[in-house]
This record gives sequence, structure tokens and C-alpha cells, in this order.
Amino acid sequence: MKNFRKELWFEITERRAFINITPQITAALKESGIKEGLCLVNAMHITASVYINDDESGLLQDYEDWLEELAPHEPIAKYRHNNTGEDNGDAHLKRQIMGREVVVAVTEGRLDFGPWEQIFYGEFDGRRRKRVLVKIIGE
Ligand code: ZN
Repeated sequence: MKNFRKELWFEITERRAFINITPQITAALKESGIKEGLCLVNAMHITASVYINDDESGLLQDYEDWLEELAPHEPIAKYRHNNTGEDNGDAHLKRQIMGREVVVAVTEGRLDFGPWEQIFYGEFDGRRRKRVLVKIIGE
């Protein structure tokens, strides 16, 4: 069995953003040379997510609005976590609901998606360098 590991780095200039990282994952799969197996993609930070859904601008805005309703960034003092001196209490909660990782089947050398599935990086506390891990195993 072969295995492949790669870190993707991001530095999002805004506090929050959704980035379609499917092209980078497709490139990593090609680089791995693996044709049949599994591809894990996970955020390496507790204020960012990796998830799968549609790349549709209305939906991305719906996520932004929904997450801000659930866990608004302000007022900062609303979150006990921010008593540590941080201001990202909301970002930890947003990450939790959007998830840490995805696993995609690899079939005949490609990501075996359902209709419209795309892999996204969800940033909830950006403006600094953060990583996504790609691990592919198979043959
Ligand atoms: Zn924090």
C-alpha cells in the first residue's frame, strides 16, 4: 500500500471565508500516483473547517449568515473563551458545526464525488497562516 502526505498552507486576508480547494486536492491526488484508496483532508486548526458541499454563491452566503446567527462574532464578551484574551470564541463554535475533515473515495485515479460535491476550506479566524493536511492511502 502506498501513502502520501501533503500540507496545504493558506493565509486568508479576511476573518472569514470559504475557499474551494478541490483543485489543490485533485493535484495532490495526481502527485500521489494513487489510483484506488481513500483521501483524507482535514483542517489542522481548531478555528477552521474542511467540508464538502456545493460551490454556489448563494449557499456560501447562506452559510455565512447562518453561522453568524448561531454564533455571532460580536459582542466579544459573549464568549467565556474570550476571557483568555482571545476574540475567536465564535470561530471555535463555527468550526465545530462545519466539521474538521472529509474523506473521499479514490477510484480510477480520481476523487469519487457525488453530483456537485466540492471540497471547501472554511476559515473562521483568518489573517494568519494556517494549514490543511492531505493524507492519501491506497495503491
Ligand atoms: Zn481561541
